[in-house]
Amino acid sequence: MAVNTGAANFIHAIINEDLETGKYGGRVHTRFPPEPNGYLHIGHAKSICLNFGTAARYNGLCNLRFDDTNPTKEEVEFVESIKADVRWLGFDWEDRLYYASDYFEQIYEFAVQLIKLGHAYVCDLSAEEIREYRGTLTQPGRNSPYRDRSVEENLDLFRRMRAGEFEDGSRVLRAKIDMTSPNLNMRDPVMYRILRQTHHRTGDNWCIYPMYDFAHPLSDYLEGITHSICTLEFEDHRPLYDWYLEVLGLENRPQQIEFARLNLTHTVMSKRILRQLVEEGIVNGWDDPRMPTISGLRRRGVTPAAIRDFCDRIGVAKSNSTVDIGLLEHCIREDLSKNAYRVMAVLRPLKVVIENYPEDLVEELDAENNPENPAMGSRKIPFSRVLYIEQEDFLEDPPKKYFRLSPGKEVRLKHAYIIRCEQVIKDERTGDIVELRCTYDPTTRSGLESGNRKVKGTLHWVSAPHAIKAEVRLFDHLFLARNPAEEKDELGYRAVLNPNSMEVLTSCLVEPGLAAATPDQRYQFLRQGYFALDPEDSGPGNLVFNRIVSLRDSWAKIRNSGN
Ligand code: ATP
Ligand code: MG
Repeated sequence: MAVNTGAANFIHAIINEDLETGKYGGRVHTRFPPEPNGYLHIGHAKSICLNFGTAARYNGLCNLRFDDTNPTKEEVEFVESIKADVRWLGFDWEDRLYYASDYFEQIYEFAVQLIKLGHAYVCDLSAEEIREYRGTLTQPGRNSPYRDRSVEENLDLFRRMRAGEFEDGSRVLRAKIDMTSPNLNMRDPVMYRILRQTHHRTGDNWCIYPMYDFAHPLSDYLEGITHSICTLEFEDHRPLYDWYLEVLGLENRPQQIEFARLNLTHTVMSKRILRQLVEEGIVNGWDDPRMPTISGLRRRGVTPAAIRDFCDRIGVAKSNSTVDIGLLEHCIREDLSKNAYRVMAVLRPLKVVIENYPEDLVEELDAENNPENPAMGSRKIPFSRVLYIEQEDFLEDPPKKYFRLSPGKEVRLKHAYIIRCEQVIKDERTGDIVELRCTYDPTTRSGLESGNRKVKGTLHWVSAPHAIKAEVRLFDHLFLARNPAEEKDELGYRAVLNPNSMEVLTSCLVEPGLAAATPDQRYQFLRQGYFALDPEDSGPGNLVFNRIVSLRDSWAKIRNSGN
């Protein structure tokens, strides 16, 4: 594969320059470094596509590295889900699966070296005092009284920190940089803390753990990373990233490059909030189809191709912004419109009896599977005397320009005949409409020469004796507000939860072919949207469909109105 030298974003421009100057001997090596403390979401997908995509573009490599320097309890579950999600998105780390915790010994040795070089010291101030000594954006910090300990004393204390001689929180190892630096990150940042916590990989081997800012550049260095791509909030940490590597005198130092994280309207991307939604039962797990998690999107029926396309289109920028969720939905629709089978399903059934259709006749009618993709062929669907249409496709007392069914009016049944409504039958007690008596015009069968007579409305339907029962779940945004994480209300995002984010319809009827549906097959239910089987809740004889996305393209509307 030839190296593409054009730059599609500012990161490529940096890499192109590095390739020209031979900075890394022509190597491009990136990594995706998730912290295994939650499930991946669509924002992570942006980072995954960027890191793996950049490596692929330059014939380089991309590692998957678990940034597990902070011991927490349930990490194993998260590690497994993250691996599954990256793979499902279509990326391959081959044999380069790493854990920052695998470097604990080497990182410890680097710390010892920094002490020996006089660039790190053990400090006995409490967390509270360290904060106090640090100063503020407008006030310089003050030196810790422990700053001038001798190298020997520091080496001894640090060794004993590791050996478990001191209480949690009683001492830390700090870098000796500059307490007056305008950049707070450079005011003698903490490198190691004492923490008696079992780690999911190293168990109880360690009671001291390195801070992210210290461990990260060294992990990058140890893996031979060239371009360490991260989100903008780390921009102010870059001088520290560089400082550790420089002071240690390391060669071929990786460089940190920051890009703007993805924010989506009507969505939260904070792992803390997503975790609360799960733990408080506001959603049904990390893979709830309403969640912005990769597992939620997958369960909902979104394809990896649609997510990759979305990540491509949003691009990579240097300043934060919020992307309209309509763009994601647009990408999902574009992907599905070409490949989804178009079938008929009635979500809220209304019985229709065709009075002049023979009692025992069943016709097998031709139905194309996707008019945009003739290669997908056609299928047969049964038509009979008793049918179901959508309740909302009938109005007894219609307004002008209502082209669906109403008394005395005609509509076409898709792939079938034109029918006319002759009589409305109601429940005597409730007054609800329970059945329509109609007649059909046998000369109007679709596909027949004589069948071309035009009427304004076309409805979807199913044949009553042949249809299969199904449950259908319709989703809406989880949040009513465009930027739920910014809610000022004391309830925060909870104040703007959408109470109608999921609607469950349990008496839907779908055409008989859908008995053979599998979760990886996507369908367009005519006039209703795109659907796929729920992989968790469906089983033999129990069809549960999730609506992936409706047909209404709000993004196209937004875009067109901008012209
Ligand atoms: P935490 O607050 O727990 O650190 P995080 O969202 O930063 O959460 P990480 O597991 O540290 O999660 O993220 C892994 C990688 O994904 C990081 O490089 C991070 O910058 C990137 N990333 C996280 N969220 C987004 C986002 N919304 N858009 C783009 N990249 C993101
Ligand atoms: Mg992070």
